[in-house]
Amino acid sequence: MSRPHVAILGAGPAGAGAAWWLRRSGKADVTLIEREPRVGGQTASFDLAGVRVDHGSHRLHPASPPHILEDIRFLLGDDLLDRPRHGRIRLRGRWLHFPLKPFNLATHLPPSFTVGVGLDALSKVLSLSQRNENETFESILLRGLGKTICRDFYFPYARKLWGLPTSELSPIQARRRVSAGSLAKMIRKVLPLPGGRAPAARKGRFFYPREGFGQITTAIASAAQELRANIRLDTTVDQITLADKVGVGVRSEGATTTINADHIWTTLPVTSLVRMIRPTAPSHVMEASGRIHYRGMVLIYLVLDQDQFTPFDAHYFPEETMPLSRLSEPKNYAARTEPKGRTVLCGEWPCRVGDDVWNAGDDELSRRARDALDRCGLPVRSTVLEVLTKRLPCAYPLYKRDYEQQFRIVDDWVEGLDRILTFGRQGLFAHDNTHHALAMAHAAVECLRDDGSFDRDRWSEHRREFESHVVED
Ligand SMILES: Cc1cc2nc3c(=O)[nH]c(=O)nc-3n(C[C@H](O)[C@H](O)[C@H](O)COP(=O)(O)OP(=O)(O)OC[C@H]3O[C@@H](n4cnc5c(N)ncnc54)[C@H](O)[C@@H]3O)c2cc1C
Repeated sequence: MSRPHVAILGAGPAGAGAAWWLRRSGKADVTLIEREPRVGGQTASFDLAGVRVDHGSHRLHPASPPHILEDIRFLLGDDLLDRPRHGRIRLRGRWLHFPLKPFNLATHLPPSFTVGVGLDALSKVLSLSQRNENETFESILLRGLGKTICRDFYFPYARKLWGLPTSELSPIQARRRVSAGSLAKMIRKVLPLPGGRAPAARKGRFFYPREGFGQITTAIASAAQELRANIRLDTTVDQITLADKVGVGVRSEGATTTINADHIWTTLPVTSLVRMIRPTAPSHVMEASGRIHYRGMVLIYLVLDQDQFTPFDAHYFPEETMPLSRLSEPKNYAARTEPKGRTVLCGEWPCRVGDDVWNAGDDELSRRARDALDRCGLPVRSTVLEVLTKRLPCAYPLYKRDYEQQFRIVDDWVEGLDRILTFGRQGLFAHDNTHHALAMAHAAVECLRDDGSFDRDRWSEHRREFESHVVED
């Protein structure tokens, strides 16, 4: 067979990574199709008032698989900075260093909190907390971390992030989203003991590209283009036709055309994919897909007339009285001192598409965010030169209790489609980091055989590995 043509949908890290590795291996011709005028997806960076900013706080974690990190290093060279983490988290009105540090905890934790955690640990040793038949996010974390940490930290944070009572969240949310799911794991994360996922020396550090987090995907896409991947920006995928060759119906500059390919590799939200496929998906698949939801997010950017707001890279807000989940100051991620007299804050505001936050105007959101920052002891005193908001309809997959059954119906149907492969954060409904999305792309390329066929058994093995991915904050 001549070299197959793979149409890759979506140029976030997963799509761009697949395009580069496919071209580098010489296994396929590639067309990479992206709706936006730039690559990067949720990891893209852009300029705002002369400051390079990201779509919310983004860092490359040292837990990245070595082969992925090596390739990113190869592309970015000295532009990949190795930075210390310097964040803060607010607990019962006090600021703690984040990631947590032993001395800082000992001197800053409210004493009542420390006593509460101690009593919870004791009750755990005495096995007073029982395993529950019908596990949920809530029951798993209560058993692993005890009442105090759950009540003051994880539960309010979870309600804010996902907009649901914790008893309504799936146990998978606890396993995949909470990297320190037990007191023992939490202690290992805080103390420099062997056995953590990142070597002790790497704890409390992160990688960050000099030109913003988006530089990773931009560099990957440029490398793919140099190897003759065809990248089509400003091109929206509307329809996927299953026939002899698979066809991708796209809209670009007002014209509708079809791109024919031997394989379609899609990183689009799996719910959009199901709606796009022709012949139409069976009704039970459409219904199941309609019961899967993503959590939305409004990003609010405030351009301030000052050099630096605080020296911290990010502030984390578990408290429910504060509507933002996190506030980052992009300049601090790469230790930039330019431009002078200007910095940007980026607030992450979890919400539901169509709710009052999603629909609110910039001035209203700016006023509410500044009031909330004021109440947290972070008043914005300088002039706000500009306000910008961005809306992410699929910020997080929502792991509602029992979502697994619905997702399995959709996933089984898509997996059964010849020459269609879904992967990436949106494609596998996986609350993943960038390095996970890249690892999926790498695995997909490995599964394409030299004869142009796709090794589904090997892909199933990779899918089982992906289930062990745990999100790093
Ligand atoms: C607030 C926030 C903070 C995060 N922080 C971190 C962090 O610190 N570290 C980390 O490693 N990860 C972080 N992540 C996760 C990271 O952003 C994702 O893992 C990564 O973006 C997933 O890449 P992807 O390619 O799978 O999907 P995406 O980045 O979502 O890319 C999908 C692409 O598909 C395109 N697309 C969608 N529909 C169509 C269509 N119809 N036609 C054409 N194109 C389409 C989109 O425009 C997009 O470019 C964070 C995510 C969020 C939301």
